[in-house]
This record gives sequence, C-alpha cells and structure tokens, in this order.
Amino acid sequence: MNLLQTKIAYLKGVGPKKAEILQKELGVSTYQDMLNQFPFRYIDRSQIQKAAYINDESVYYQLVGTISNIKMIGAPRATRATGVFTDDSGSIEVVWFRGLKWLKNRFKPGVKYVLFGKASEFNHNYNFVHPEIEEYDPKDPLIGEGLQGVYNTTEKMKDHGLGTRTIAKLQKLILQQVYEYIPETLPKALIEENQLIPRRYAYYEIHLPANNIEIQQATRRLKYEEHFFFQLKMLRNKMHREQAIKGHVFNVVGDYFNGFYKNHLPFPLTNAQKRVAQKRVIKEIRKDLGSGHQMNRLLQGDVGSGKTIVALMVMLLALDNGFQACLMAPTEILATQHFATLQEQLKDMDINFALLTGSTKIAERKKIYAGLADGTMQIVVGTHALIESKVVFKNLGLAIIDEQHRFGVEQRAKFYEKTDIPPHTLVMTATPIPRTLAMTQYGDLDVSKIDELPPGRKPVQTYHVYNDDRYRIMMFMKQQIALGRQIYVVYPCIKESENTDMIALQEGYEALLHDFPEPQYKLCVCHGRLSAEDKDFEMQRFINRNAQIMVATTVIEVGVNIPNATVMIIENANRFGLSQLHQLRGRVGRGADQSYCILVTDHKLTADGKTRMKTMCSTNDGFEIAEVDLELRGPGETGGTRQSGQIEMLIGDLQKDGALIPQVREAAIKLLADDPKLIKPENRMLREHYKELFAQTFDWSQIG
Ligand code: ADP
Ligand code: MG
Repeated sequence: MNLLQTKIAYLKGVGPKKAEILQKELGVSTYQDMLNQFPFRYIDRSQIQKAAYINDESVYYQLVGTISNIKMIGAPRATRATGVFTDDSGSIEVVWFRGLKWLKNRFKPGVKYVLFGKASEFNHNYNFVHPEIEEYDPKDPLIGEGLQGVYNTTEKMKDHGLGTRTIAKLQKLILQQVYEYIPETLPKALIEENQLIPRRYAYYEIHLPANNIEIQQATRRLKYEEHFFFQLKMLRNKMHREQAIKGHVFNVVGDYFNGFYKNHLPFPLTNAQKRVAQKRVIKEIRKDLGSGHQMNRLLQGDVGSGKTIVALMVMLLALDNGFQACLMAPTEILATQHFATLQEQLKDMDINFALLTGSTKIAERKKIYAGLADGTMQIVVGTHALIESKVVFKNLGLAIIDEQHRFGVEQRAKFYEKTDIPPHTLVMTATPIPRTLAMTQYGDLDVSKIDELPPGRKPVQTYHVYNDDRYRIMMFMKQQIALGRQIYVVYPCIKESENTDMIALQEGYEALLHDFPEPQYKLCVCHGRLSAEDKDFEMQRFINRNAQIMVATTVIEVGVNIPNATVMIIENANRFGLSQLHQLRGRVGRGADQSYCILVTDHKLTADGKTRMKTMCSTNDGFEIAEVDLELRGPGETGGTRQSGQIEMLIGDLQKDGALIPQVREAAIKLLADDPKLIKPENRMLREHYKELFAQTFDWSQIG
C-alpha cells in the first residue's frame, strides 16, 4: 500500500470530523491530496510583531500576548463579541461574529497566546476579525522557522480549527512521515537536462522552505512536472486519434459542393474563408482524411467573420461522400437562425434537412428521427436535442459544433457514441485562443483560422458613458432609429434566476417604453424566463423589423445575426467579462452601416472594470481582447461560462507559465518520439504516475 494514499483522517490531529471538512471544502482525502495543496504565498514566521505597530491591512501579523475583556455585544442575543489582545507594546481589539458561545471559556487569564492573521482598519483603528489564535508554545515548530506557507482555507474550515497555520502544521507532519516515500516521476535524463530538483525535495521545499531560492526551485520543478504530464496526455491523445481512431473517408468533391459553389454562393468568399473551406477542408480532408483518419478541427474566427458558410460547405462535402451531417448550436434561437440560413442558401438545391430542438413538436420530431435513422434526412440542425439517445443516425459523417465554449466536453463526446466510426468534427468558436491555451486546452486539436472579416465592414465604434448621461443616449438612439436602424439594449442577467437582475431589466424596459412610446416606436423583450416560443416570437419581431429596440439579457449573446441592427447598448457593462462584451458587440457591425457599441456604467468602477472598458473602446480585435481577458481573469474563465472538462492545475498556470510551456511541450514531444508507448524501463515511474493521474479522467482522445 502506498503510504501517500493514507486517508487524511488517520493523521494525528485530524480525525473523522476534520477529515470530512477537508474533503468537502478542498477535496482532500489522502496525504497526497494534502501535499498537493500548495501555499499561495509565504510569510516570515520567524518574526513576532508588536501590537502597537500594526499599520497595514495587506500583511499577516503574528503576535504573542494575552487575551482579556471578552464582551458580548447585542441584546437580547449577542451578534458579535470583542476582546483585547495585549502584548508588551500595547493592545489591539479582536472581533468575532461566529462561535460566540464557545468564546467565553476559551481564553485563560494570564496565559500567552499566538495570534495570527490580517488586520482590518476600522475608523482609523486596526483590529483583527477572526484571527487564528492558539496557546503559545515556545517550542512551536512553526515559530522561528523561516518561511511559512499560507494556504487556501474557507470560513467553514476556520470554524473547525483548520486555519492556514494548522494546515501548515499538518503538512509538516505528513512530510515527516512520508518524505522518503515520495516517488520520483520524471526520468533521470529529463531531470538533469532541465536542472530540476528531485520531486521529494520539491514537496518539502514548497511547504517548508528555508528561503526564497528553495521556493523558486520547488515551484519550477512542480510546475514543470504538471505541465509535462499534461502535454504528454494531449500529445498521446492526438497520436491515438491519428493512428487508432478510424475516420470516414471523404474523397469525393461532388455535385452538392460544386453545385453550391458554382451556382448558389450568396457572396464571394473572403480569402480566409476560401483558405479554410477549400484548402484546409477540401485539400486536407482529401489528403489526411482520405486516408482514413478522423478530423478533429477547431475553426476559429472572430464574431462576424463568416463561419456559417464554411460550415455549410463542409456539410455539403459530407453529403457528396454519402454521409449525413449535423450542426449543433448552443441555443434554440441560434439553431433556428442557422436553419433559416440553410433554408435560404439551399433553397434551390435538392437537399433534405430539418431543425430539431427541444420545442420541436412530437409528430415532426418522429419524422426527423425516422429520416435520420434511415438516412433520408441528410442534414440536421439543432440544439443539444441532437445528442439525446433517441437520435439515431444511419451514417453520420460530420458533426459541426458552433460556439463551442457553451458546450461541455462530455456533450461533444456523445456524438461518438452514435456511430462505430466517429464522425469528423469541426468545432467553431469565436473565442480567440491565446497562444498558451492553444498549446494546452486545445493542444490535441488541429486549428484553422478565419482571420479576416467580410469586405465593406466598418469597425464598430465603442464608447463608454456613464449612467447619468441617459438623455444623450436616448437622443442618439432616436437618431439611429430615424435612419432605419435597430438597437439592442442588453442587461446583465448572470443568473436568470436572480430577481434583482430581472428587476433591472424590467425597470429598464419600462423606462424605454416611456421614452419610446408606441405607436411610433416598437420594443420587444427577450430573456431566459420566457418560454422558448415567446423568445422566438419576440426575436422574430426584431428580425422582421417589427420592433426597433430589443431589450434583452445575454440570451442574444451568441451568433445572432441581424445586419440591420447597428447599436448595441450594454447596461451595467462592468458586470460583464471582456470576452462576453466582445461577443455582445459582435452582434452589431454585421452590415455595411456604421455600428456603435455603448457601454453604460456608473461612476464607481473597479480597476479591473476600468481596464475592461478601456480595452473595449480601444480595440475591436478579438485576439487582443482575449489576451487581456486572460490576464485579468486567468484561463479558467476565458470563454465566458464555466466549461466542463476544463483543466484544473495544481500549481501550473497557463497564463503565467507562457515561457515554460513551449519548453515542456518540446521535451514531451521528444520523449514520445523515443518511447511512444512509455514502455522503456527508464520511463517506468513516469508511466505509473501517468496512469494514476489520468485513470479517472474522461478519455480525451475521443473528443475535440
Ligand atoms: P460568424 O462567424 O460570427 O458565425 P456569420 O457566419 O454569422 O459569422 O456571418 C456574419 C455575416 O456575414 C452574415 O450576415 C453572413 O451572411 C455575412 N458574410 C459571411 N461571409 C461573407 C462574405 N464572404 N461576404 C459578405 N458577407 C459575408
Ligand atoms: Mg456564428
């Protein structure tokens, strides 16, 4: 039995109750899990500060002194308690809001305690709110030992005596027991070449560093390792896909594709579209995929760059080769719109296609199911209704997924269960992928880019205005409507379930009704609480130009294409992330007219908020915006919504380790070239660790 897999409950000072909390709050259940909780910063515990000199809210203090004067405040039931912490320099107030009952007998007069925590300023006085306090033991292993890690903790953990100081002690205890049993996972040659320290040193030094140099070398080693295994995984997935997973052979460019290209193309393709549709897709499918590999391609193109037509042409290619194709969109509105585009662009061609969403009527649905099963239905467009198990394809050859960041990885994988040979997959996204992410999150995909907008587009002009400038905004809206244009007004509804958000939208809507009265003006409204039918109805009124103003939540964020809409007003814009703002702005600027995006906020903005507004006003370049977004938010959140299958790293940081990642990737490529199956004796530990790491995870090799 591996000592590192010992349950944390067995560690001295933990026990079942604390173990349960650690599991719930941090997902820690074994010694190894605990060791993988790395400090996020360090403090110098060798120093004991003085109460009289506390003057900074941003640092941790360690004091030694006595506690007296515990007072309960609030009657009849106390809501707060205060106490006085005194050392030889003076005293400072301590405040508690929880666990009050228990406080009364907690501190013994005259006994010395160690207080540890951050100070808060209150009315020019400093105090400590819920600091960690324990009896002072001059032989305490954590005092006087140089640097001590500060760990992630939660309120609940602290309530149960699991503050950062305790965690640090537990780490030390574990290390004392298992240090010798921490295995090396990287091959010797790699360690030497990259001047990494041994793994067990790294674990020791990250938790109990003697100095900053130790922190640095431990961090580097652990980051290297984490990125290395991740790269190995990505690369092996790719290898596996290329070698083991069979792909349908598309080797015909036939009448569907050529007929459309010659006779029905609605506009000349941009060079970028041509490159993707003709060179990449046709040539590469013929070359690579003609030989029987599965395509797993990411099609990246900024909002409005014209990904839809490319999708359409690739689908025609599938049809030319006797296969069915499907196009999945994240929302009903978007699926409907794609369907309408197909209806328009394929109207003179003899192709059988249908729309399948959650609100497709049963009779219609049955017909579609039957057509897909017997192969007479050639193309189906829809929402996630497409991946329900009831949907059976005769021979699905291609699955296109639009606006990929809205779908979880598992959902995509469902397509693979539908056929023996997985369909070629094209994932379309408007979210630009910064360089390091391209090597990691998407490291096993092939990427095509549409890096050019259709001709005649004027860049959207973006302005940031304040709430109190309503009159000017209104006059501007009237002027645009007089020119025949349409306007979106978007409210943040981060969770459609939140009432305050709905109230803001409702109030905004009513104010607009007042400023833009019928019959001269017509408004429509669209949000997540409407039924799918009502949403469609409202959306349709806007598409048909029966309404000039669409008041909406972010339900309109993705993909909606209404070229006559030229103004995007975003209320409370500071509540949106950059990539979401960019997506929203992408709803305008789709026709030949000058378009505008107006970001409305109040005067109070965070530093982050200011950066976001400034970035939006200064560039239309999705790539640049994605880079800033990554800087502000970190990679976990780029792409808007939380995404399942997102990589969670323990210590590696996709944003900050930009210099390390290419290096690691190269090393991983080299190792795999030498030992693709990881069976050489010198890679034994590496293989073991690899298996352990990825045993439970979903099989990524199947998906894009
Ligand atoms: P996105 O990449 O955001 O999905 P769409 O495919 O919806 O973009 O295209 C945006 C708009 O640009 C649509 O109205 C589409 O008809 C138009 N469009 C696409 N390609 C071209 C082109 N080559 N020339 C002119 N208009 C185009
Ligand atoms: Mg689109």
